[in-house]
Amino acid sequence: MKEITSEEFEGEVLNGGKVILDFYSTECPPCEALASKFEDLSRLYGNDIKFLKIFRQGNRELSERLGVKSSPTLLFYNEGQETAPRLTGGIKRSDIIRNLDSMIPAGRVKEIKSLIRPSVSEFDVIILGAGPGGLTAGLYLCQSKINTVLIDIALPGGHVSTTHEISNYPGFIEPQAGYMLSHSMSEQTKLCGTIYKVAVDVTRVDLERKEVVIDEYETVKAKRIIIATGTTPNLTGAPGEKELKGKGISYCATCDAKYYDDKEVLVIGGGNSAVEESEYITRFVSKLTIVHQFDKLTANKQAQDRIFKNPKINILFENEPRAFIREGDKIVTEVENVKSKERQKLISDGVFIFIGMKPNIDLFRDKLALDQWGYIKTDEDMRTSIQGVYAVGDVISKKYRQITTAVADGTIAAMAIAKELD
Ligand SMILES: Cc1cc2nc3c(=O)[nH]c(=O)nc-3n(C[C@H](O)[C@H](O)[C@H](O)COP(=O)(O)OP(=O)(O)OC[C@H]3O[C@@H](n4cnc5c(N)ncnc54)[C@H](O)[C@@H]3O)c2cc1C
Repeated sequence: MKEITSEEFEGEVLNGGKVILDFYSTECPPCEALASKFEDLSRLYGNDIKFLKIFRQGNRELSERLGVKSSPTLLFYNEGQETAPRLTGGIKRSDIIRNLDSMIPAGRVKEIKSLIRPSVSEFDVIILGAGPGGLTAGLYLCQSKINTVLIDIALPGGHVSTTHEISNYPGFIEPQAGYMLSHSMSEQTKLCGTIYKVAVDVTRVDLERKEVVIDEYETVKAKRIIIATGTTPNLTGAPGEKELKGKGISYCATCDAKYYDDKEVLVIGGGNSAVEESEYITRFVSKLTIVHQFDKLTANKQAQDRIFKNPKINILFENEPRAFIREGDKIVTEVENVKSKERQKLISDGVFIFIGMKPNIDLFRDKLALDQWGYIKTDEDMRTSIQGVYAVGDVISKKYRQITTAVADGTIAAMAIAKELD
């Protein structure tokens, strides 16, 4: 592995054969998350592919010329030509390996793979998920001098890091940008000494044995596990939805309705949460249109009665969204009538989607006691049905899912575990 400058770019990269080049920055958590993976892979692939690093801030002109806009960015070259997709953000080991493997013959890939030795590390506590729940548990455990590892499939922060503004987290007079709040939470826990293994693939979780395998080869063992894997909103799957998430399309009324004072919004969905959240949103907006796929709402009768009386709410039955497009400061939602297949365009200032959330429990679904909606059941100390396994935050069965409630759960689990391990 070698550090280069712009002056060496031509010789080392363009005339350097097979190269992986890491544009990194300082004070860049995703760069820190990448560093150990890059170093580890350089030991495996280093005889076949040159591993180079370049400091982005110190080589600004070159990074701009190459169109490198964020750190870290990995570029892959073969004989002076970029040869595999660039990788950026929370880069996973498996994504780098896929690109590296595409640059060398299959036989050699096999030889390299045979060199990968499984590794095992041991901790007191494994926390799965580094959102507010997991980060808070990590902080409390670390401050109790309990050896803890936080494992996340993405970068730390959970939903908070992608939320535009947070105005209901105590301690801040002004609304906080979500990414700043999650950054502060994450740094506080990390500075305390909690070990982070983030942007990894979680290959297997054995709750009974308290073992987690990451990136297929690394086994992490502990005495206790805290599940803090949160939820994922169900998506409509219509084109444009992913791109406009957090930029006009929202999945949280408490968080975002206040930004639509006197504006017009659409709500997609017709179940309890869509109907109840619609009621709440009408405190702010001037007009709200519910788009629902069936010919009647599926929410409970009382909630339905209330919204039918609400003069701000219209309902468009038997329609489904087919595309979301930004046009200036409006969102155009193309909807299709499920029977006639006729399409129309609905223009609004924002769109809320409430077609359900799902708890992130795919890796351990069958092993835990769950409620009827698939959320993990816990006792008041956050213990699950499996001895030594705790769960906190949005993934557990509870009524209110907010940052403050996740943080509270994390605190409780950590304090209960600290007492047990004392
Ligand atoms: C758009 C939006 C806006 C919101 N705005 C607000 C607001 O303004 N105020 C407020 O109080 N609440 C808000 N909320 C709710 C709040 O974000 C959540 O209640 C809170 O983030 C829950 O924290 P958590 O730690 O339980 O889970 P999450 O924040 O969901 O974090 C879970 C973490 O687990 C990781 N993970 C998932 N699966 C695995 C796995 N298999 N292995 C390892 N890691 C895994 C994820 O990558 C993620 O980092 C909002 C939610 C959304 C969706």
